[in-house]
Amino acid sequence: MTSGLTIPEAFQRLEVKPIVNGRGNYSVLGGSILSPGVWQAMEQANSFYVDLNDLLAAAGSYVADVVGSEAAFLTTGASGAIALGTAACMTGEDGERMGRIPDTTGMPGEVVIQHGHRYLYDRCFTMVGARLVEAGDAGGTTPEQLAEVISERTALVAFTSHLNGLNNTVPLPEVVRIAHERDIPVLVDSAYEVFPVEKMGTFAPVGADLFTFSAKYFGGPNSVGFLCGRKDLIRAAAMQGSVGYEQRPYQSFFRPFKLDRHLIFAAVTALQEWLVTDHQERWCEFGRRIERIRATLADVPGLTLTPMYFTMEDTLEPAPINCLHIAVGPEALRGAPEVNQSLRASNPAIYLHAYDDALVVVADAMREGDDTIIAERLKREFTYAE
Ligand SMILES: *Cc1c(COP(=O)(O)O)cnc(C)c1O
Repeated sequence: MTSGLTIPEAFQRLEVKPIVNGRGNYSVLGGSILSPGVWQAMEQANSFYVDLNDLLAAAGSYVADVVGSEAAFLTTGASGAIALGTAACMTGEDGERMGRIPDTTGMPGEVVIQHGHRYLYDRCFTMVGARLVEAGDAGGTTPEQLAEVISERTALVAFTSHLNGLNNTVPLPEVVRIAHERDIPVLVDSAYEVFPVEKMGTFAPVGADLFTFSAKYFGGPNSVGFLCGRKDLIRAAAMQGSVGYEQRPYQSFFRPFKLDRHLIFAAVTALQEWLVTDHQERWCEFGRRIERIRATLADVPGLTLTPMYFTMEDTLEPAPINCLHIAVGPEALRGAPEVNQSLRASNPAIYLHAYDDALVVVADAMREGDDTIIAERLKREFTYAE
């Protein structure tokens, strides 16, 4: 069964299926759809060559102004920012060390992290040769336990921003105080703390030495991120970025983390657009999309429809509205897994969140009209026996 949509020629040529995205911003689905303005910036980037050093410096300086840090550097995603930031803390501006990573012999090679802050991306700290050292345990971390594991081997303290204060962990201001008393920098992974927009400016004032953002969360290219923070550490990061590998006396670890000029222009343009976006309207639009889907499915037997908030941690809260929770009862014509299978098998495919007894449709990453495509397809699945 197809939705009747035209499949773009580029997809046909490779025989890959386009996806209508009812899940949200996920790297595996391509991250985000770029706006016409961002796309135009990519095209213009392609009209000339540019010295990547100049472009990175200009882009970094713009980002630093926006987030209120001394400096910033563009990276291959927030994951690249974590890896590069960790390296910068281990090497400083020592080129010989940069040429040796991930061999950390003779460098501070430990990253201290609170037990309750362990998360999916903490591997990005260790891939440059560092070793994670946990403070505290499953019960939490006290300031004393954090101080105890900091030593002359510590390169930095890692801080997972979205877990700030959770799981009995030490909150950011206190972590900064403890680390700074020992002259150790703090690297905050704030990858998705881009909304409200003012949030981006809160990390430098609280004393984060380095912090990250991922462009996939503000309509930028999936593969770009920002490393922001102290001038000396950003310089140490930039010195071992991919540019310069062929020119410098040392060959840095980050040559395989190369960023193209159109991605740099695109990420900066996406950030510029993000700052002037009417975010209240953006959220109202999520609500309208969800309401249209709810209205289309309202009289379908066996479905219980609840507009909800699907969070960045993939959990459900009552508000603000960006998703429709569809509980699929025994009276429904088909079960949630079966409908999900069928949606994924169609061309274009439709991707939703699927559970044993429910589907969740998220509005964040939809293009105009996707809500109608998804709603009508769901209605058909739950209304007609094939
Ligand atoms: C997505 C994400 C990352 C990785 O960011 P990329 O830009 O995809 O490399 C890191 N940390 C958090 C919290 C994220 O959500």
